[in-house]
Amino acid sequence: MGNEIYFDNSATTRISEEALKTYLSVARSEYGNPSSLHGMGKDAETVLKDARQSISKTVGDAAGGTVLFTSGGTEANNLAILGRAHAKPRFKGKTILTSAGEHASVKMPLAALADEGYRIVEIPTTGGRLDPEAILKLATPDVILASVMLVNNETGALYDVPAVAAALRRSCPDAILHVDATQAYLKVPFSVKTLGCGLLTLSSHKIEGPKGTGALWVDPGVIRNRGLSPILLGGGQETGLRSGTEDPPSCAAFAKAAAVGYSALSERVSRLTELRERLLATLASDPRLSGVRVNLPPVSAPHIVSLTLPRIKSETMLHALSARGIYVSSGSACSSHGKHGTSALSAFGLSDPDADATIRVSFSHRNTTEQVDLFCDALSEEIARLARF
Ligand code: PMP
Repeated sequence: MGNEIYFDNSATTRISEEALKTYLSVARSEYGNPSSLHGMGKDAETVLKDARQSISKTVGDAAGGTVLFTSGGTEANNLAILGRAHAKPRFKGKTILTSAGEHASVKMPLAALADEGYRIVEIPTTGGRLDPEAILKLATPDVILASVMLVNNETGALYDVPAVAAALRRSCPDAILHVDATQAYLKVPFSVKTLGCGLLTLSSHKIEGPKGTGALWVDPGVIRNRGLSPILLGGGQETGLRSGTEDPPSCAAFAKAAAVGYSALSERVSRLTELRERLLATLASDPRLSGVRVNLPPVSAPHIVSLTLPRIKSETMLHALSARGIYVSSGSACSSHGKHGTSALSAFGLSDPDADATIRVSFSHRNTTEQVDLFCDALSEEIARLARF
């Protein structure tokens, strides 16, 4: 590590030393296949069982739900959506509710289901909130699934997901709620109970765990009623819902990062809030930054700030800052290569040119207020320099 300022923590984080140590220790000693019946298999299975328990605790699961390990948030979202839609023949062609600004790993499986004849309806997210009237109107009795993120990866908007859960409970007897908590996990306090969800997506690499690992938490009722079908078929691992030999070192390291983050949650939230407030205060008071507009949702997570620059393309700024050792992203790094790059920003209400001039700053609890100040100085210098072209 040098003097870089890494403000792209929503794209990914550096693995923590604790998680790395856990990974190495399990990889070295518990290398059996968790499905093997001998002692080494049992040891590996125990590692997975402990990891599941730790993760369950961090999402406030008191109901005995199942943590299914996946290859990340993308696979967990695909499993939740495709697995739910295909769980019962009578679900074919039914309605799925979602929000307008979802991540591509939700949008794309929904688009595939639309092609199969399912009806996909979107709750508008203009201004960074779920339209409450649309929630009530769109929660019709034929809804089988609602898939809504808790925190938007581009704007940091914290959505009123419990309002969706309440509408489903009232009007949709067949519906379960899937929450993509990839960006919310260990940044805002929540539990599966307060959200009222049946399925919850988590990703390890956003919380200082290893990349390529994630989980789908599944409510016991969903398992009991066979309300979810697998998308990967094979040896029947993970309760038959996700075949493939598990990766105990990664799962244990993910669980370690989650447990450490959970026990430090309130300090981390305070830290992130301090960083965000420092940035917002400087943007409001420094005349050199007066042309920068903050895309501020009414309620937001503390780690993501979306900034629209004065007529400077986000990519140009990203490279200029990168040359100074400062790392931010243009919109969302996960989608910045695709045609869905600006969808959440458009759904927020930004015009295409504004969306193209928008950068995302995302903090870790390891960042400092000094780094925020250095970033603000660099940003103002680059705005002045690039405005000349
Ligand atoms: N959902 C959201 C909201 C995300 O931000 C991301 C990652 N950018 C994902 C899902 C996908 O997670 P993963 O990278 O673990 O596949």
